[in-house]
This record gives sequence, C-alpha cells and structure tokens, in this order.
Amino acid sequence: MPPSDAALPGAAPAGRPGLPAPPDATRPVDVLTVVSGADATPSVRRVLLAGTPAAAAAAGPTISLLVPRVGDPAPRWPAVARDGRIVWPAGAHGVSLRSYTARRQDPDRGEVEIDFVLHGDGPAAAWAAAAGPGATVAVAGGGPLGERPAGWLLLAGDETALPAITRILAEAAPGTRGLALVEVADVAEEQPLPAPAGVGVRWLHRDGTPPGEGTLLADAVAALDRPAGEDVFAWVAAESAAVRAVRADLRGRWGLGRAQHHAIGYWRRGRAMAPAG
Ligand SMILES: Cc1cc2nc3c(=O)[nH]c(=O)nc-3n(C[C@H](O)[C@H](O)[C@H](O)COP(=O)(O)OP(=O)(O)OC[C@H]3O[C@@H](n4cnc5c(N)ncnc54)[C@H](O)[C@@H]3O)c2cc1C
Repeated sequence: MPPSDAALPGAAPAGRPGLPAPPDATRPVDVLTVVSGADATPSVRRVLLAGTPAAAAAAGPTISLLVPRVGDPAPRWPAVARDGRIVWPAGAHGVSLRSYTARRQDPDRGEVEIDFVLHGDGPAAAWAAAAGPGATVAVAGGGPLGERPAGWLLLAGDETALPAITRILAEAAPGTRGLALVEVADVAEEQPLPAPAGVGVRWLHRDGTPPGEGTLLADAVAALDRPAGEDVFAWVAAESAAVRAVRADLRGRWGLGRAQHHAIGYWRRGRAMAPAG
C-alpha cells in the first residue's frame, strides 16, 4: 500500500492529451459508480463498478482505490500530480486510500469488478458492505500484479489474494505446471478457480482460527519440495507475517533469487493500511 503521498505505479501523467503539462499540474481521479453488489461467498462482497472505457482500462490489475465514508453523497476526492503523487484536498475529506485488485476489467463495457473481503473494521470493508447502486469510489492509479510467466508456478495467498491468483491462473500458458495454495476461512469461502491442467489447486481452511493468526500458508509451503530446474516463479500475497515466513523459506530452502519470486504483504494484522481520511 503506498503511503498517501507516494507515487502510484501506472498513474497517468497529468495534463491534456497533446499538450505538455505544467510541472505542478494535476489530473482528476477516475470516479467509478456502483452498478451492483453480490455475495461471492459469505465473507466476500463482489462489487461491479462502471466508468469510462479509459477508467476501466486504467483500474488494474492492482488498484490504488479511494474509498469515501459510508453514505457520503459528495466525497472530496484528491487529485493526482504529474509524478503520480496524490494531492489531497485541504482539511477533512473522509476519503481513505487502499489497495485492491480488479478481479475483472472490461474497458469495452466500462466495467471493473472487485472482490472485497468483509473482514469487519476498516473503511474499505465497511464501504463495500454498505455500497449500493449509485455509490461512488475513485481510482488514483493502477499497477501490475508482479507475476512472471514460468514453466513451474507457485501461487500462495489468502482470500485477499484470490482475485490476483484468479487472474494469474487465467492468463497462465496452458502448459504451465505448478500449485496454487489458497488459505480461506472454511469450505464455504472456496471459489471456482480455473487453472491450467498442470497446476493443482489446494484450499487451506483456517477452520475457526482468525485470519492472520495461524501458520497454514507457511506450513503448506514448508512441506513442498523445490521443483527441479530454474524455470520456477513464486507469487505470494497474504497477511504480512505469513508472507515474511513464506518468503524466507523460498529464498532460503528453495534458493529463489529476486527475479524468481514476488512476495508482498497485502494486509497487516491489527493495523490499518493507512490512516482513514
Ligand atoms: C496490491 C494489493 C491488492 C489487494 N487486493 C485486495 C482485494 O482484491 N480484495 C481484498 O479484500 N483485499 C485486497 N487487498 C488487501 C486490502 O488492501 C487490506 O485488507 C486493507 O487493509 C483493507 O482496508 P480496510 O479499510 O478494510 O481495513 P484497514 O483500515 O486497512 O484495517 C482495519 C483493521 O482490519 C484488519 N484487516 C485488514 N484486512 C483484513 C483481512 N483481510 N482480514 C482480517 N483483518 C483485516 C487490519 O489488521 C486492521 O486491524 C490488497 C492489498 C494489496 C497491497
């Protein structure tokens, strides 16, 4: 999650097409409108958003999402500077910056679909739980998922990483081999996860252990032998401590170099990703 004044990956330069932008120019953020929301599972709310084709194309795969307070009919959105920094309005604005993943982007239809984990506290989870048709959210920029094609792929994550894992598997070459390990609360949280025939999918159930408190993901990776050869890539995203444990194992025991893995904490137990606006 970038801090509030961080440059955003993939942020478009400010200014009008064809004209050089002055150095201090900003561009408005892309505002998306909720079309519908549905429960993908008991704890995942799938929200369909509509915007211009350009906004839908720019909103992902990872998204710097600007989330207003629940029920705020006229959020005071920030702007985006030429270098990608978010320029916040002066005073209280009630908008929080959070990172999400576009599960699906369809620029032709101007659609973006996001799966929000309803984990309880938090401006983004609260917004998603309450958002009905017509509610708005904004996008400050998009970025890559960090995956790379490889002959053998390890994907390891929890429910916050499931949209990314879904996209990575959908785009993997048909001959890809490997394993996807997905930690969820229980069997009711499993989702259809199409994968190349050579990639196994294994669901890990917390079965009552609160998210971020167990070692399921790290234990599952620790039980895996390193596949032979160098054409191996591991993509890992989950609670930060779990990711740290898996990353250490993959760098140490598996000997993966920097170019062979992408491991990033998607959330931190007991800590908001950034202060609420
Ligand atoms: C690149 C990237 C992509 C992401 N994609 C997605 C996505 O597609 N869908 C998605 O749901 N999340 C995704 N996340 C994770 C999401 O950004 C965090 O869960 C974020 O903290 C949610 O913001 P919030 O305002 O709801 O809660 P915050 O205000 O950040 O946190 C409030 C409290 O909730 C706790 N908390 C936060 N997330 C969880 C959780 N998942 N389970 C249990 N407790 C939690 C925190 O520890 C804190 O105590 C992504 C993160 C990154 C970095």
